[in-house]
Amino acid sequence: MSETTKYLLDEERIPRHWYNIMADLPVPPAPPLHPGTLQPLGPDDLAPLFPMELIMQEVSTEREVPIPEPVRDVFKLWRPSPLMRARRLEKVLGTPAKIYYKYEGVSPAGSHKPNTAVPQAWYNAQAGIKKIATETGAGQWGSSMAFAGALFGIEVTVFQVRVSYDQKPYRRALMETYGAVCHPSPSPLTNSGRAILAKDPNHPGSLGIAISEAVEVAATHDDTKYALGSVLNHVLMHQTIVGQEAMVQMEMAGDDPDVIIGCTGGGSNFAGLSFPFLGQQLRGGKKRRIVAVEPSACPSLTRGKFAYDFGDTAHLTPLTKMHTLGSTFTPPGFHAGGLRYHGMAPLVSHLKELGLIEATAYTQTACFEAGVMFARAEGIVPAPEANHAVKAAIAEALRCKAEGRSEVILFNLSGHGHFDMAAYTNYLSGKLVDQAYDENELAMALSGLPSVPA
Ligand SMILES: *Cc1c(COP(=O)(O)O)cnc(C)c1O
Repeated sequence: MSETTKYLLDEERIPRHWYNIMADLPVPPAPPLHPGTLQPLGPDDLAPLFPMELIMQEVSTEREVPIPEPVRDVFKLWRPSPLMRARRLEKVLGTPAKIYYKYEGVSPAGSHKPNTAVPQAWYNAQAGIKKIATETGAGQWGSSMAFAGALFGIEVTVFQVRVSYDQKPYRRALMETYGAVCHPSPSPLTNSGRAILAKDPNHPGSLGIAISEAVEVAATHDDTKYALGSVLNHVLMHQTIVGQEAMVQMEMAGDDPDVIIGCTGGGSNFAGLSFPFLGQQLRGGKKRRIVAVEPSACPSLTRGKFAYDFGDTAHLTPLTKMHTLGSTFTPPGFHAGGLRYHGMAPLVSHLKELGLIEATAYTQTACFEAGVMFARAEGIVPAPEANHAVKAAIAEALRCKAEGRSEVILFNLSGHGHFDMAAYTNYLSGKLVDQAYDENELAMALSGLPSVPA
């Protein structure tokens, strides 16, 4: 096969539609509620924040939603992303299991997030929007949105959670290189930020606070919309190109996964890899174990309540039914910034309640240990978030070894850790410690959950 033929074939393998799991759910999820009236939300309620095309995707029940050609054209920069078999890791572990990973770190921003940032920027540009306000935890989403904004001529303002703004100056430099403006959150620029700073000028910030700030800016400026990097139905749907590609690639490799693993912050990379496989199962296909992995210090799926809650701290967002630690919960400042969210995608939460997926939690030191083992075997240094998936994949491979089973494990290596080397330095010098969340704070945050009429 000539180089040119290979190139054309690769391009052909980029999916032409997104997969919408809403079409295959046995029970529909609970509807989102208006934060003021507590009545089910209508598409118009979201119009100040999102362009109508994205709102229609948010409520769509169509199984396949076409990917616009200009968006697919941008995806050609790095898609299809590689699916690799971790043979050297298998050997180090001495496991009879086969371990595959889908590597999303090849995108320009270094993670899966451009998969949704690019279509979001494109639909906003189509609607004539000139500015987008957004938040970022670890800086991954902010740099993805900044990159996507640069492609379609949209000004991007990013509120970055204070601890990661301080810990990761190079993520900010990347956002600025793409042309975005970046503020540490809580900031003095919004009512929500000022309210937090008045109580604690050194507040480390949280995703919930940064979301409030970005939503406030979008809601109070006619020329500005808001973009969210995870959690929402349309974001999870945009990520399903990952799983669709993986299905074809697994078939090319002649294997079929028994266990599918993804780390969960808001749930998007996990959903992106697993939903196309789960959809197949819901339509009568093979049943697989699907495992969500979260940090022990911010365990929404394993310790949170399944209840209606706000998506942000200042209670500007709609209420959604999800696994939540309470919107006022501030997780400790651990290094997987992308996993420091109090809630979980309503769709992922719903599937957990239906027993269609599993969830597990690991401490950050256990995850870094796994990440270093992976790097030494496979060469790629995973993002701290992705280390959670690596850790779970290793645990499954060791279970297979103990049980003498040769299962096929597939996990999402959601990003590389090249901007997280300070965290690796801490880990390697023994300075990285496990930070437990405050049980009292969790109890308080949970007791403050909004009461919603049944
Ligand atoms: C943001 C991020 C995550 C967590 O977000 P999800 O929406 O749960 O995928 C995981 N891995 C990486 C590399 C990220 O940047």
